[in-house]
Amino acid sequence: MAKEISVDISPVGEPAEQAEAPTTPARNTCPRCDSHYREDEMVANLRVCVHCGYHFPVTARERIVQLVDEGTWSETARDLESADPLEFVDSRPYPERIAEAERKTGLRDAVLVGTAEIGELPVALAVMDFTFLGGSMGSVVGEKVFRAAELAVERRMPLVSVASSGGARMQEGVLALMQMAKTVAAVEELREAGRPFISVLAHPTTGGVAASFAALGDVVIAEPGALLSFSGPRVVRQTTREDIPDDFGLAESNFRHGHIDMITPRPELRDMVARLAWLLANGAPYRRTPLLPDLGAPQRAVGRLIGGARRRFTDLLPDRDGDGTA
Ligand SMILES: [Zn+2]
Repeated sequence: MAKEISVDISPVGEPAEQAEAPTTPARNTCPRCDSHYREDEMVANLRVCVHCGYHFPVTARERIVQLVDEGTWSETARDLESADPLEFVDSRPYPERIAEAERKTGLRDAVLVGTAEIGELPVALAVMDFTFLGGSMGSVVGEKVFRAAELAVERRMPLVSVASSGGARMQEGVLALMQMAKTVAAVEELREAGRPFISVLAHPTTGGVAASFAALGDVVIAEPGALLSFSGPRVVRQTTREDIPDDFGLAESNFRHGHIDMITPRPELRDMVARLAWLLANGAPYRRTPLLPDLGAPQRAVGRLIGGARRRFTDLLPDRDGDGTA
């Protein structure tokens, strides 16, 4: 009977907040069709319901595993941590919320940045994690996205980002809002340097992240059913006092209205990102010619001579004609 005596060592928090945490056994049950999966099945299915196509949320670490070539991920700027310059307290002090998010997720903040290879092409990568304070963007997220863009410019790689965020981090006030401008400036630097930027939008991408860098990819890809809007449907309905469509703000609606370029199911995402990165990078083998200055066409010619790149590039196209041209 002694086994049944337990001591609650979980951090003290508001009951409402604890109720939101998705730690119940129903975590692997599809909310759309009630199919239930074992954890190993979920991992194998990339957390997509094989019966109805529902996309479960994925953490940043799992997303990276799904997206990049095995063993190529290298994290940078991992030690950046939020300060509390406003000494902000809502129902709890901000540092307390940060500490709890760190304990729950093992992350330092809501984004991981670094480099990796996708389809053998080196890329700079920024992947957000919704489980860390709702993927909110504060000073650290802004700085890390900026550094990922810097990496892309310095090492002449494409930038790939995966957004999943409730928006700006209100506990950092105007400093969080400033990250919108900062990340947009980072995208602008990418443009000036001619580096491709592929933005993947996962559920949900809203608020200050939807309204800044995440919307500015050269190609913007969304996962099916993802909510992508500045404000959620409830707020819009309350504010406008008008009926809004059932699919308001969803990826499908955004696609119809031209806000995003494509909707790609998760099992095809890695190949799609790889193919686009190669296309936008002109098939130039950045990894093999790291010391060449960016000379545009001459460099690409050298790239072709160095060999293999064009062939590998066309290998990624779905309907290649076999003659080795793109
Ligand atoms: Zn399902």
